[in-house]
Amino acid sequence: MGGHLVILSGGLDSTVCLALAAEQARGLEGPGAQDGAAQPQSTPLVAVTFDYGQRHRVEIARAQLVARHYGASHVIVALDTAAWGGSALTDLAIPVPHAGGAPVRDPGIPVTYVPARNTIFLAVALGIAEARGLDAVWIGVNAVDYSGYPDCRPEFVEAMRQVARTGQRRGVEGDPIAIETPLIAASKADIVRLGSAHGAPLHLTWSCYEGGAAPCGTCDACVLRHRGFTEAGVPDPAPAAGGPT
Ligand SMILES: [Zn+2]
Repeated sequence: MGGHLVILSGGLDSTVCLALAAEQARGLEGPGAQDGAAQPQSTPLVAVTFDYGQRHRVEIARAQLVARHYGASHVIVALDTAAWGGSALTDLAIPVPHAGGAPVRDPGIPVTYVPARNTIFLAVALGIAEARGLDAVWIGVNAVDYSGYPDCRPEFVEAMRQVARTGQRRGVEGDPIAIETPLIAASKADIVRLGSAHGAPLHLTWSCYEGGAAPCGTCDACVLRHRGFTEAGVPDPAPAAGGPT
């Protein structure tokens, strides 16, 4: 028993989340890890990436590199979210907003919100975890520097824990799959610091909503990333060309 399943987009947050899960899978955070006592046996580490009709393929390629970096088995699940659309990230008819337009901290829900994305991702991940006998699903959502998405908030995660307890065989048998959100209260700068401290391969991560040869530097994701690295005082190993203005 044991084992961890990490939802991996190839972005900064999910890569840092995988770094933390990988340490648990290797037993590095268990008792005795620091004093040379016998290490617990390592447990399975699986990454799942959703190919949900993103505007570009870059982040899926990056997710593959990150999964390989950690020796995680990698599952890619195709979801045709274009069937329902409604997001700038999956509908080419809706442009991605760039700096100079709506502010990053617009209190509204931005057009880059994908309807029910994390609800679906977590539901599928809970299914994979149950089928493979894995004990925890990890998702790198955070509610601090988030982009206004309702499915990145603690109350949403708690609702999905209730789903795991009531909607799955393991849950009703008293052994629900855990949902781990180690970054839920972290700022973007905290996430950069954590990733740096845990040796996460930040140079492999892709944050930009666009799929150019280099990050655009001006979409909400690029602006948040740039601010996070700047506040953390860590150079971005994969900087935007020219940087955001
Ligand atoms: Zn961008």
